[in-house]
Amino acid sequence: MTQIEKTPLRDDVISLEDGLLGIVCTACRRHSFPQRLLCLHCGSDQVENVSLPEQGRVCSWTVVRQAPEHLKTPYTLVTVDFEDGNRVLGAAEGNVRIGSPVTVELYPKTVDESGNSQWWYRFREVEEFNE
Ligand SMILES: [Zn+2]
Repeated sequence: MTQIEKTPLRDDVISLEDGLLGIVCTACRRHSFPQRLLCLHCGSDQVENVSLPEQGRVCSWTVVRQAPEHLKTPYTLVTVDFEDGNRVLGAAEGNVRIGSPVTVELYPKTVDESGNSQWWYRFREVEEFNE
């Protein structure tokens, strides 16, 4: 019997333990998402891997009604602002409003050819922002 493995769809974007992954630049102190070798802002290679906060706030949202065949429509697409300065694009479950707090939720999105589940992220509105 084979064990079904849980893996991130992209391991530079999420960690199953730590959620969304990014970098902080030790030269300019700014954050970027996802993990990368060079700072998005100043081009420095002096970067450290970090996790993003667990919650952010909705900056904008829209409902997608037309998409490539493998995506089920309609779905809600949001941009979320995090306290570390990152603005992240992603799908949202349930209703969202501009300015509302959302949490990062990991879920099994696809299954690879070996039968392992590949996990991805989405956002879900929460009632209160955890400071
Ligand atoms: Zn930088």
